[in-house]
Amino acid sequence: MASDEDCDYLFKTILVGDSAVGKSNLLSRFAKDEFHLDSKPTIGVEFAYRNTKVGDKIVKAQIWDTAGQESFGSLTFSSDDRFRAITSSYYRGAQGAMLVYDITRNGTFEHLKKWLTELREFGDRDMVIVLVGNKSDLVDLREVDTEDGKKLAELENLCFMETSAKENLNVEDAFVEMITKIYEIA
Ligand code: GDP
Repeated sequence: MASDEDCDYLFKTILVGDSAVGKSNLLSRFAKDEFHLDSKPTIGVEFAYRNTKVGDKIVKAQIWDTAGQESFGSLTFSSDDRFRAITSSYYRGAQGAMLVYDITRNGTFEHLKKWLTELREFGDRDMVIVLVGNKSDLVDLREVDTEDGKKLAELENLCFMETSAKENLNVEDAFVEMITKIYEIA
């Protein structure tokens, strides 16, 4: 467990979105500058830390990533309290969320409404949400227009960015944007 002695602030942030949209790789790119072509699905909950400078302060972001997130959505509406407890413990105390879809799979974009409902049900009221369209390097396979991402972000009052964990495009910017916004309202 990292201590918070070497930073001025410690923020909890989470990654959400359908499976295989690139959450684990966004996290490993930001935290370790690594990318894995055949990454294995996350087992359980993983998290990583990274320090970022915001103004003259050092902010440590604790970033959570989970397995089986796709089922989180459906389980949320289950009457089984046990699953509600798991879901709510993932969201509990999170000040920021990166909501990720895959620009090459329309379905992952269509599911965003469900993820937003869940974020708003379980997350803090003033949680900072950054909408991220990942895999921007796969230009020929694109199914979701940049404009559609922008429009949804405007409608839902979210920050928006397209990223490529593979090519390391905008990944740093997306995390730093989330961390800076949290810092501003903290
Ligand atoms: P998760 O289930 O959302 O955590 O997704 P992963 O990070 O495990 O990624 C799923 C698959 O997409 C893996 O094969 C990754 O190598 C691939 N992937 C992730 N990000 C990118 C990206 O930006 N571009 C491309 N081309 N592939 C990516």
